[in-house]
This record gives sequence, C-alpha cells and structure tokens, in this order.
Amino acid sequence: MESKTPILIDSYGRVHDYLRISLTERCNLRCFYCMPEEGIPLKEKEEFMSSEEMIAISTQFVEMGIKKIRLTGGEPFLKKDIDQILRELSCLPVEIGITTNAVLLDKFFPLLIECGIKSLNVSLDSLNEQKFNEISRRSFFNRIYENILEAIRLGFTVKVNVVVIKGVNDHEIIDFVEWSSKFNVEVRFIEFMPFDGNQWNWNKKVSQKEMLQRVTDFYGSTNFIKTIDRPNDTSRSYKLVDGKGRFGFISSITNPFCDTCNRIRLTADGKIKNCLFSQTESDILTHYRKGNEVKTLIQNTILSKHKAKGGFDDFDDSYLNHSSNRSMVSIGG
Ligand code: SAM
Ligand code: SF4
Repeated sequence: MESKTPILIDSYGRVHDYLRISLTERCNLRCFYCMPEEGIPLKEKEEFMSSEEMIAISTQFVEMGIKKIRLTGGEPFLKKDIDQILRELSCLPVEIGITTNAVLLDKFFPLLIECGIKSLNVSLDSLNEQKFNEISRRSFFNRIYENILEAIRLGFTVKVNVVVIKGVNDHEIIDFVEWSSKFNVEVRFIEFMPFDGNQWNWNKKVSQKEMLQRVTDFYGSTNFIKTIDRPNDTSRSYKLVDGKGRFGFISSITNPFCDTCNRIRLTADGKIKNCLFSQTESDILTHYRKGNEVKTLIQNTILSKHKAKGGFDDFDDSYLNHSSNRSMVSIGG
C-alpha cells in the first residue's frame, strides 16, 4: 500500500503522522496516578473494537499519512489476538512501537522480533521494590525489572517512563539518572498529569525545571550534556558525559510540546481523541459499523483540534473543576 501525501493537517498547520492506539482498557497493575481506586466503569465486549475492526480502521489512518503507530492501553499485552494485530499491522508501511508495563513482556519477545518491532517504552516508577509495588498496587517489580534488562540485552530500543510525583518517588531522580548511565536505555521523567480520579494537584507536581536543577545540583553543570532531540520528540534529553544511556524530561504541564504535536489517539472503544486533554471525541467505531467511509470523520477530528492543551489555558481550577475527560488507563497515555 502506498502512503500518500499527508492530509492529516490541522488548522494550525501541524501534520499528524503518529497514531497511538489503545488496545484495551484492562490492566494487570493499578498505578494510582492512572487507574482510579474504584476502577473504571465496565463496558460490554461489543463496545470495544474487535481486532479486525482495529486493523481496518488503522489501515484507513495509514492511507491518510500515518507513519508511526504506538500500541498502548491499559496493558496492550492483555489484548486477546495481539499476535494477529501485530502481524497484520507490521505489514503496513509504518513503524510500530509498544508502551507496556512489561509484566508479560518475556512471553512476547519472539513475536516482537518476528514482527520487526524495535521500540519498547516501559513504565517503571521506582527502582525500589516496595515503593514500586505501593505505586502499582500489585507485586510484579522483579519480573518487570528482569524483563526490562532482557529487552535491553536483546537489542530493543528501550525507554523507561517514570511519572514523578512529589513525596512519592521524586527522591529517586538521581538514582534513575545513575541507572540510565549503566545501560543502553533512556529514562524519561514525566510530569504528573491530571486525569479523572487520579488525585492530582499542583503540590504533587515536580516540574522539569525543578528536576533539572536537582540533576545540576548533584552532578554540576559540566558533567552532563544536552543531546539532540528530533522535531516531534516530547522528551528533552540529556546524558551524563561518561554515561551509556540517556535521561530526559516530558513536561506536559509546565512546558507542553503542543506547537509540534503530531499525535492522534484511537481508544479501545473506538473513539478518536485529537489531544490527551480534549473534551470531545469522535465515535469512529459506530460510524465504521454503519458502513460509512471514515476518512472525512478522521479529517474533521484533526481540523477541530485546539492549539494547545485541549483548549484550556492552564491546568488551573477551571480545568480541574469543569473538564470532563477519561482516566488515563482508558485513554492510552
Ligand atoms: N500499561 C502501559 C504502561 O504503563 O506503560 C501502557 C499504558 S499507560 C496509560 C501509558 C503511559 O502513561 C505510562 O508511561 C504511564 O506512566 C503514563 N501515565 C499514566 N498516567 C499518567 C499521569 N497521570 N501522568 C503522566 N503520565 C501518566
Ligand atoms: Fe496499567 Fe500502565 Fe496505567 Fe499502570 S500506567 S495502571 S500499568 S495502564
């Protein structure tokens, strides 16, 4: 299939060529910043895209200029038929990556290799077993940690995502920078973002500026260097002068990357979200099931994208009190 000239351009001239697909809302962890304590409302199986529908809809996106697809969730490896999805998507002219909590990763290495998948983003919010298990409300630290090391050994490009929360794991920033220097890996410190039911408030936020200051205080400004970021990278990356890996910051709250955003999201229940913080969604699955062509809907959803932060000025009271969004576990990160 030939990928045509990009037609996914929004009203601010941003070309969208990166699709993030949430394969499932289910998860085998319960990270408190992502999954509300009471869980998320259960839906009937029919409300979710089948593997065939997911592949058919993704194909339409690719025909409109999508060049990169990232599979996420929930936990993507819990999706039944993930092998079929990966095999079929890997026949499309796109680069594929996966964001995972790595609990089940070892079982899927052969499939990932077979499908030519090279990029794995893995969440690990603490290097301390007890702390990690507290955050994730489950006890899988050792398995996850071993799977990350195995992925690095097998030659995958591994990025480790750390959501930094004041008073929870912010004291581990230097430990993670040290860790990144020992392996061929990039650790990305993510500013804690507000979503439904995740106990967010400004006091729990650790800004990119503050994190970088802590790194500077510890190492001195000449012992780490800025590395080159690509135009649509969300992370601003650095490395220790003698370090093997890198570390970076994703500052969605204090310094968002909306100007260069090239992302669009497809949720497991078949809704398009044009921004993590968007208040509206387009129901592409119902449209598709009715036999309608879906490209106009995709294009209109891109055209209605706000300039920044889903149309909010800031993550202040007006956002916290008046926004209606999903929990992160059902958006797909
Ligand atoms: N289960 C997979 C995982 O944990 O990597 C994929 C889904 S998870 C929703 C995708 C990413 O979103 C993870 O890196 C996670 O740390 C991040 N995330 C979830 N909630 C967040 C929040 N409130 N603020 C910032 N990042 C968040
Ligand atoms: Fe599950 Fe990932 Fe959310 Fe943790 S961050 S609850 S692993 S979806």
